[in-house]
Amino acid sequence: MNPAANPVDWRAVEWVILDMDGTVLDLAYDNYFWRELVPQRYALRHGLSLQEAREVLAPKFLEVQHTLPWYCTDYWSGVTGLNMAELKREIRHLIGPLEGAVDFLHAVRASGRHLWLATNAHRDSWSLKLEHTGLTELFDRIVCSHDYGAPKEDARFWQRFMAEHPFEPSRALFVDDSLPVLEAARAFGIGQLVAISHPDTGQPPRQVTGFPAVPRLSALQPLHPDSR
Ligand SMILES: [Mg+2]
Repeated sequence: MNPAANPVDWRAVEWVILDMDGTVLDLAYDNYFWRELVPQRYALRHGLSLQEAREVLAPKFLEVQHTLPWYCTDYWSGVTGLNMAELKREIRHLIGPLEGAVDFLHAVRASGRHLWLATNAHRDSWSLKLEHTGLTELFDRIVCSHDYGAPKEDARFWQRFMAEHPFEPSRALFVDDSLPVLEAARAFGIGQLVAISHPDTGQPPRQVTGFPAVPRLSALQPLHPDSR
């Protein structure tokens, strides 16, 4: 589809539910963390070359992809022997919102809609990031999949999330950069789904198929309530 077009029918949206990493915040931080910093420090700690460290870590990453442990700081501290929470803080200067994201959050709030964050990030990670960027106060609710024992890729997350925070799925817009997560949201019945096609400013944009996609949240400008 034309990436300049706004795929959202705002007249049908009461709840705006956003992913954090790669949707509101630049995924460059996370990719640097996992692809560079963790292998470097793992190599140092275990007396390996960087290449050896990458080879040891790769299957460990694959094993838990799209499951809750993948997103769990404590799990990775145990597996690697590195203090993950401390490492994340060490490079916090790299945490930042994607261009236009903060304006989008303000625009949603100004339109009177509910603005919720739904993240797979561990509390150590999301609280550090939202504190660092000063975005905590902009969200009416912050929902973390670790509190529900299932990641956003899993139908149980959506059931438990809605049981605790009732909303009308058909009147919700959900935006995420992960296609498996968007598929689970679609299966659950979320009314409008949008993929972010350029979640990491250090990488080229991706081709997204199966969902309407925009490079940035700023392409989804919400209507003011008066214009509904
Ligand atoms: Mg994400």
